[in-house]
Amino acid sequence: MSQTPNGRANGATRDADVLIVGGGLSGALLAAQLLRLPGRRQVLVIEPRSELGRGEAYSAVELGHTLNGNAARMSVDPDNADDLTQWLSDYIAAGGWPESEQQPVPVSELFPPRGIFGLYVQQRLAEAQAIGALQGSTVEHVRAEVVDLQADAEGAWLSLDDGQQLRGAFAVLATGMFPAARTPQTESSGLNAAALDPWDVSAMSRLDPQATVLIIGSGLTMVDAVVSLEQAGHRGPIEVFSRHGLLPHVRRQPPAWVDFLAQDPGIRSPRQLLHELRRQCRQALADGVDWQAPLDTVRAHIGRLWSQATDVQRRQFVRHVRPWWESHHHRSPPLSAELVARLHGEGRLRIQAASFKGLEPSADGRLAIRIRRRGEAQTSWVAGDALINSSGIEYDWRRVARPLPQQLLARGLIKPGPLALGIRADAGGAVVDAEGQVASRLFAMGPPLRGMWWESTAVTDVASQAKALAARLVGVA
Ligand SMILES: Cc1cc2nc3c(=O)[nH]c(=O)nc-3n(C[C@H](O)[C@H](O)[C@H](O)COP(=O)(O)OP(=O)(O)OC[C@H]3O[C@@H](n4cnc5c(N)ncnc54)[C@H](O)[C@@H]3O)c2cc1C
Repeated sequence: MSQTPNGRANGATRDADVLIVGGGLSGALLAAQLLRLPGRRQVLVIEPRSELGRGEAYSAVELGHTLNGNAARMSVDPDNADDLTQWLSDYIAAGGWPESEQQPVPVSELFPPRGIFGLYVQQRLAEAQAIGALQGSTVEHVRAEVVDLQADAEGAWLSLDDGQQLRGAFAVLATGMFPAARTPQTESSGLNAAALDPWDVSAMSRLDPQATVLIIGSGLTMVDAVVSLEQAGHRGPIEVFSRHGLLPHVRRQPPAWVDFLAQDPGIRSPRQLLHELRRQCRQALADGVDWQAPLDTVRAHIGRLWSQATDVQRRQFVRHVRPWWESHHHRSPPLSAELVARLHGEGRLRIQAASFKGLEPSADGRLAIRIRRRGEAQTSWVAGDALINSSGIEYDWRRVARPLPQQLLARGLIKPGPLALGIRADAGGAVVDAEGQVASRLFAMGPPLRGMWWESTAVTDVASQAKALAARLVGVA
């Protein structure tokens, strides 16, 4: 086909079976799954970055920026939980990551640097390419940004920022997470322009080592930023501000615990969940078992609980449970947590419960931010020498100032997800349009489905979605 749905003839259109928009972890894993399935197909992955399989998370170059789970928890093969452990054992045996020898634990318990995890993903993709090639299947990286997309019952058409047009039987939105800093709302506060990248060690090494660094947000990105500062030789005060002032807990390896949610499907509301979870944690502590054991059993049920919940219950969860879910569930890798705990103990890192209200003009070359401390009506200001924004992700696509989300909304091809988190889709990832119609040719996976499942971002979420979606696209599911 060489025409877009609006009838615009275009001689430069390239055809493929599946067009994957975004070549981070999601795009790479979906491509790998498609290549491994029987049949012959052409897959194009459109990704502006120079490498597939990395995205923001796995482009990390510092060894201290590690996964937040150990190798045993981070396999990209839903059928083999030991896949990463096996790959990593071979990688270390071949001389890779020699620093891992300083950690006297089995390979399955190592927390790999995210850059090395990116290599693992790329190697699994390369293996799938070799398998696919035997039946004539290919995957090609098209290095560009998709700026527009049209889709109907016949297929999908993409316009790229370099002027190319692509046509596919299916298109998949694997566009990942949009940092809050990219949104107009945050940009208008000036935060983006003034802030250092949390992962940019070389920029941090240009700071005065005694500089006072202000960090907005206290989640895992803050933990990475503290690792970066340490690596850069920073030895001055670090002031962290977040609404609730909660630090992520450290990830331990808790023993198995009874799957209490599977045993009691009557638990549905956030209130019931919290009540029972607290009871289970108290029980665990009374039995001398780590409280992380019962908590970790909840993970497998969170998608079901979220998708069954009413919007009122979801709002209750976001308002009352989310800060604690984030700090207790999204836990810190042990070495990074040790560093944060040490700096906190030395009084060099302070955490304050306060919301960021904007940047203040500053006359002396220093930075000043306006904050409102929790429980106080008045705002106040705090001065520092540098600022790091680790305040997270913009999940509301209406506020993402990128061409593709805006075009998809303008064309009515997508509809905001529950609570305006990401976009709406059916249980298998088929996108729902503004009229409520389920698309037959346009799909989404990973972080864009945040509103459908709440947790739709972690390695294991993305890996299982990639497998199921590939099967659906080739008609074997
Ligand atoms: C810093 C960081 C650390 C993390 N650590 C962990 C961890 O330890 N464990 C864990 O389980 N999860 C972790 N995550 C979650 C992680 O995001 C997911 O595991 C994974 O990155 C999601 O992959 P993705 O491909 O959907 O998104 P991304 O990795 O964000 O990739 C999306 C890609 O889409 C591209 N793109 C976007 N729009 C367009 C467009 N219009 N046209 C073309 N390309 C486009 C982007 O360039 C990007 O490369 C981390 C995330 C971050 C950001």
